[in-house]
Amino acid sequence: MKVLVINCGSSSLKYQVLNMEGEILMAKGLVERIGMDGSVITHEKEGEDKWVNEVPMETHKEAIKQVLDAIVDPDHGVLKDMSELGAVGHRVVHAGEKFASSVMITPEVMAALEECTDLAPLHNPPNILGIEACQELMPDTPMVGVFDTAFHQTMPPESFIYAIPYEYYTKHGIRRYGFHGTSHKYVAQRAAELLNNNLDEMKIITCHLGNGASVSAIKYGKCIDTSMGFTPLEGLVMGTRSGDIDPAIVTYIRQKENLEQGQANEILNKKSGVLGISGVSSDFRDIEAEAEKGNERAQLALKVFAHKVRFYIGAYIAEMNGVDAIVFTAGVGENDYGMRDIICNNLGNLGIKLDVVKNRVRGQEMIISRDDSPVSIILIPTNEELMIARDTVQIVKGLPV
Ligand code: ADP
Repeated sequence: MKVLVINCGSSSLKYQVLNMEGEILMAKGLVERIGMDGSVITHEKEGEDKWVNEVPMETHKEAIKQVLDAIVDPDHGVLKDMSELGAVGHRVVHAGEKFASSVMITPEVMAALEECTDLAPLHNPPNILGIEACQELMPDTPMVGVFDTAFHQTMPPESFIYAIPYEYYTKHGIRRYGFHGTSHKYVAQRAAELLNNNLDEMKIITCHLGNGASVSAIKYGKCIDTSMGFTPLEGLVMGTRSGDIDPAIVTYIRQKENLEQGQANEILNKKSGVLGISGVSSDFRDIEAEAEKGNERAQLALKVFAHKVRFYIGAYIAEMNGVDAIVFTAGVGENDYGMRDIICNNLGNLGIKLDVVKNRVRGQEMIISRDDSPVSIILIPTNEELMIARDTVQIVKGLPV
């Protein structure tokens, strides 16, 4: 089956076409500046140069139309016509407590996603627009929704309930949801495969360290805890997000700096994290370059980031009463061997022994722990699109995901 994967943002859209017989990537692309001047589609057929087409795209429907045209284009396309496409898999950020796995999109599912818009006001509306546009342009093609929150729905209440008045959970749905679920699920499955072990018998800690970052504890194939919370602001220190802080700081700073609610949100989401500490950048490459030159705040930002990842690794080992594998993925996790080094340093008593030579690798699947390390440390590039396509095929065939 050939599957189109769509990840629709407010002004941009990423897509891939995969042939799921052999899980082969056929084409991928990006639409930018939807609804703005200078909208552009960049399409890349596997093994060929990028094809860039600047064309006005006022709406998400026009953007999807350009994607479909690119896919069947006689020169750059990969399909003869759209009927070759077996299904479309849509990435959707928030499904609240409504879906614990991927589902076929029906009018009831669309209504449920609308209800979750309050929980993800920036992400769910463009996700919904993308689905509606595809439905209009491909009314006979099955559509599947794959949710960032779904994988974390197996968490027990003691992991997801906040210690605030219980009615805020029942009335407003305030609880830990967790995000990056598709990535955590993919790398956990891949770790079990690489180690020739059964996922259902393993305790795995997955560290998705990108611009946004989260850690998950996956016990016997199920997520039992994750660091992101009600929103993607909680947990680890991130590129520009604060992660965990004392909630009293928010009211204190608002008073001291005379900030509106919106400004406080903006500071915690956009001006904090390693950017806020270092004052240099949210990009670890820039921060590391500055740290090497002796910039103390850049050095501190890296240390605070690593400290928090170690903090969660320790907590999740306690929660699972052990760990068999620790996985690193996403931009920082896949590429930054210096950071992996700091995170894993001096954890030998927990059975975590990094091989500093094997660790000097970027962006490829590899076991990077020492041969005598009881815990396997593994580098696995994430592939959310492939996971979405896999789920899509399973759902269309009526099989469990
Ligand atoms: P997201 O999908 O959350 O936007 P990514 O997973 O793509 O983020 O990660 C992007 C981040 O990865 C960059 O901001 C940068 O900090 C980090 N990164 C990418 N390559 C490297 C590298 N070679 N060394 C260190 N950090 C890197």
